[in-house]
Amino acid sequence: MSRNDTLFARAQNVIPGGVNSPVRAFRAVGGTPRFVARAQGPYFWDADDKRHTDYIGSWGPMILGHGHPQVVEAVTKAALEGFSFGAPTEREIELAEEILKLVPSIEQVRLTSSGTEAGMSAIRLARGFTGRNKLIKFEGCYHGHADALLVKAGSGLATFGFPTSAGVPADVAKDTIVLEYNNIAQLEEAFALHGKELACVMVEPIAGNMNFVRASVPFMTRMRELCTQHGALLAFDEVMTGFRVALGGAQSIYARLIPGFKPDMTVMGKVIGGGMPLAAFGSTREVMAQLAPLGPVYQAGTLSGNPVATACGLATLKLIQQPGFYEQLAVRTRQLVDGLQREARAAGIDFTVDSEGGMFGFFFADHLPQHYQAVLATNKERFNRFFHGMLDAGHYFAPALYEAGFVSAAHTAEVIDGTIEASRGVFARLD
Ligand code: PMP
Repeated sequence: MSRNDTLFARAQNVIPGGVNSPVRAFRAVGGTPRFVARAQGPYFWDADDKRHTDYIGSWGPMILGHGHPQVVEAVTKAALEGFSFGAPTEREIELAEEILKLVPSIEQVRLTSSGTEAGMSAIRLARGFTGRNKLIKFEGCYHGHADALLVKAGSGLATFGFPTSAGVPADVAKDTIVLEYNNIAQLEEAFALHGKELACVMVEPIAGNMNFVRASVPFMTRMRELCTQHGALLAFDEVMTGFRVALGGAQSIYARLIPGFKPDMTVMGKVIGGGMPLAAFGSTREVMAQLAPLGPVYQAGTLSGNPVATACGLATLKLIQQPGFYEQLAVRTRQLVDGLQREARAAGIDFTVDSEGGMFGFFFADHLPQHYQAVLATNKERFNRFFHGMLDAGHYFAPALYEAGFVSAAHTAEVIDGTIEASRGVFARLD
């Protein structure tokens, strides 16, 4: 028995499914999860001391790679000054100022400890600000595990969503309308039916929880118009895309494509904490003034703005602002997906790819899916065999076909070439 197997057996005894977050359990692909012993740069070593090239990077945060010396130094210094105070610190202001500078649609920001908390709080704030209850989300987008967001589509637009999870009251889910991503007709119909009751539309502008699917420009344009017309807030969930697809997040990309475009609210996480528990939500001054202690919408956190987490986030945000950082990251990420595409084609396997900045997706299909059901219709059996083939060869991709992948600044051209090389044999064995 490998040490990974032993640890998994031991973990399952004391932790449900052996993991503290479900996708880590390899349920979709089968097999034993790799328990991480340590990590450095683009690699981690598992409990059997096997090295893996890491294309998950903690599901996005590790944009500089693991253990960047300047980040380690900042975290060490902060830890020596104290772990948590439950009182304000200067670093929280610095981090907030940094976020405002990089994401101009945000005028004020509140820090939380997880993306779930930030998304949940953003929705409460949107409801408090508008005095409305209903919200729109899209099938395949994940915004954390708050009750109102764990909802799947109902049978039609006149009816409302059903809970995706046991334990979510139908009464909570009924205020969430779930639509197909990139479907303008459905969006128009939902606004025509419920426009006056809608507090917000929550969307992953580039969805990373159904592999990698971009919101089309016409879809985003219409979403912005409809929100403005009906007085609903457009909330961008940039937990994954923020500081990942571009320094200004996905909204900076849509602002280039759609004149004057900006969301009303933004939810962030992952990269802003550099691997520490830190997330945020922000909006205009007017909206944020509704939050306690200024306004009637309550939101709080013992560890919010934690001094060690803010040190890690600040050091990370400083480093990603170096000139050429995103250009280089995008080139490396493209090198990876184009290389995989080339090898798949040589092996006669239907395979499509997409990437933006340091985030990517690949599909065992002959065209890029535009929504969740289309992602589910891609070849799962081939994906699973590809995943295990690459894992055996020491290249760690997300263990499910509906997840995006991530490249860090520590993934050099040589590291990526090694992965492409390894994929050759794996693709060749897929048919
Ligand atoms: N929103 C998006 C887009 C996410 O990808 C995630 C997590 N993967 C979340 C929200 C929830 O963040 P957290 O896991 O930090 O609660």
